[in-house]
Amino acid sequence: MWRLNTPNSNTSSADLATALTLVNGNPVYPLTDIEKARILQLYQAYDANLGNPCNTLKGTVSESALLEAIHNAYNQVQIGGRLEDYRDRLKLTAEICPYCGFGAITDLDHHLPRSKFKAHAIYAKNLIPCCQPCNNLKRAKAGDKPEGQFSHVYFGQRPVEPFLIAEAVVQRTGLVVTFSLERTATLDPNEFARLKFQFDTLDLNVRYKAPINTYLGTLRTSIEIFASAGTPALKEFLKKSYITSRRDFGPNHWQSALLKCLAESEEFCGGGFQHCFGRRDPAI
Ligand SMILES: [Zn+2]
Repeated sequence: MWRLNTPNSNTSSADLATALTLVNGNPVYPLTDIEKARILQLYQAYDANLGNPCNTLKGTVSESALLEAIHNAYNQVQIGGRLEDYRDRLKLTAEICPYCGFGAITDLDHHLPRSKFKAHAIYAKNLIPCCQPCNNLKRAKAGDKPEGQFSHVYFGQRPVEPFLIAEAVVQRTGLVVTFSLERTATLDPNEFARLKFQFDTLDLNVRYKAPINTYLGTLRTSIEIFASAGTPALKEFLKKSYITSRRDFGPNHWQSALLKCLAESEEFCGGGFQHCFGRRDPAI
């Protein structure tokens, strides 16, 4: 649920030319200046519409040959293609998947699917660096209404206050954490609908479990040391950890939401933490 810095699109014109020209200089598609200007105009319309789907961005039937050529040119953004460097540059804009907040960057997702929005198949602002599971789960989702759309990683609104809320219950089998989205006063209702659809589509309540277990494991020694000094000391440690996480990753990263909830949990800080680390067989 992160927002990334918007990638530079100053090279869009050159990238189009590279995509539609073979290494030996022969054209894959003989792009005219008028056609190039038309695609750059569609890119501007994409920005003006904040990357949200609309029919204007699809181009027209009379442009179908050009649109098909750009659609197919995305193959050159793949590994080994003429635009492989471009792919690497875009992937470097994120260290961790902005959709889930824990996956490694392996893929480029088309925010607007290239099957429907062919003109934007290689547009930098339509390509989102992400992890493979998130890319697979998102697929070609771009509904007509916000309830069926993803929030745009480059253009989407992200309020400074928490909207990702975690609730934790200590059970004998371990910690059960459930996340939900709550609309804040400054969060646009359409954007909230997109974030909710995105959260559900990416199955994050289930997929957060593994990184939470790993993360709690890294905190185990610190939690036990602070708990030995009393519940207030453990709460203070978790509160400071939350402030650090919020500064580094924002208030709506799963780690920030988790730390906030644990710092406020009497059950966890009052001794329940002892049930949350699982049993490990000693290494031989
Ligand atoms: Zn991901």
